[in-house]
Amino acid sequence: MQLAPGVRPDDLTGASLGWDGQLVDDARLVTAIARSAALYGAKVLTRVRAIETTGAGARVRDGLTGEEHDLKARAVINATGVWADQLDPRIHLRPSRGTHLVVRSTSLSSMDCVVNAPVPGHFGRFVFTLPQLDGTTYIGLTDEPAGGDVPDIPTATDPEIDFLLDTINPVLATTLTRDDIIGTYAGLRPLLEADGDTSDISRRHAVLTAPDGLVTVVGGKLTTYRRMAQDAVDAAVRARSLTAGPCVSATTPLVGAESAPTNRAASARLVRRYGSEAGAVLSGDPSRNQPISPDLPTTPAEFDFALQHEGALDIDDLLDRRTRIGLVPADRAVAEVVAAEAVSAYS
Ligand SMILES: Cc1cc2nc3c(=O)[nH]c(=O)nc-3n(C[C@H](O)[C@H](O)[C@H](O)COP(=O)(O)OP(=O)(O)OC[C@H]3O[C@@H](n4cnc5c(N)ncnc54)[C@H](O)[C@@H]3O)c2cc1C
Repeated sequence: MQLAPGVRPDDLTGASLGWDGQLVDDARLVTAIARSAALYGAKVLTRVRAIETTGAGARVRDGLTGEEHDLKARAVINATGVWADQLDPRIHLRPSRGTHLVVRSTSLSSMDCVVNAPVPGHFGRFVFTLPQLDGTTYIGLTDEPAGGDVPDIPTATDPEIDFLLDTINPVLATTLTRDDIIGTYAGLRPLLEADGDTSDISRRHAVLTAPDGLVTVVGGKLTTYRRMAQDAVDAAVRARSLTAGPCVSATTPLVGAESAPTNRAASARLVRRYGSEAGAVLSGDPSRNQPISPDLPTTPAEFDFALQHEGALDIDDLLDRRTRIGLVPADRAVAEVVAAEAVSAYS
């Protein structure tokens, strides 16, 4: 009960303790992967959409200018997630929506551990709390078939919100209501077409090679991203008769994971988010190292770093794709002013 003070003690007969879900922020992971690739010579082009692809190139559209270009390539890998079938119609996906609620951690007695609540009628399915470093806790998640056109931003439905509250509340000391929900977000799992309930479809990844050599990698987990990349590159090397040395992914750290000492002035929070780069995030202007607000530990200096070193171009990049502030509309409104100032100072 000391570790999980937000849990309802009635009828509690025991507990088990484990360590899982240590990803600090998926936005940070994706940014770190892109920057690490750039370190090894990749050219990373954001806001560029592939319109058509073959095994030997792609037609792309620049989202800023609208210009289209033809790119030639020795190999092409289609890694567009739930949109993969738009580039290769031979792929058949059956998207499944996963929705999370966002609450302030204080609504759960500031519990900093995950609590799993079993979903009635299912074996091995849970709704769980996921405490974040910024004082919020996510509660997820659903698994709902999501056919039809793929939206850019899927949204939570009312029945999903009810399901999540109804499943988690019986194990909590204090009942959460809709008033406690400060945000919601949803994503679509790119599951390969199969019979049965979407929650039963395999979460393993698939690598598919088209007759012209276009390789598609789809499905899988964030946790297995290196294995997915390795399998996709191996398939592309085979399909396009390329030569390549042995895979070095297992021993290649991402930026920020080097053992170089970080600046001692950097806070533990910055070190968790930026690793050995934490010192570089600190601003020479001490006022930019202060949290944006009592509810928002992100500092303006983090926005500066994103604009200078992480390819962020606008406010949405800062609030949605370099941090996750945008998940809470009220926090977004507060941070938007600071983000706008940072963008205009940089441009
Ligand atoms: C709700 C939910 C919960 C999940 N929970 C977990 C979890 O707890 N643990 C775990 O390990 N995994 C989890 N996953 C799975 C994980 O998020 C995915 O496996 C992972 O994001 C897949 O990565 P991806 O790069 O293949 O696709 P995506 O992350 O979808 O990336 C595809 C990218 O391609 C871009 N794109 C699309 N079309 C084009 C185009 N035509 N041209 C250019 N770019 C394009 C998109 O903008 C996007 O950035 C979860 C997924 C969901 C939806």
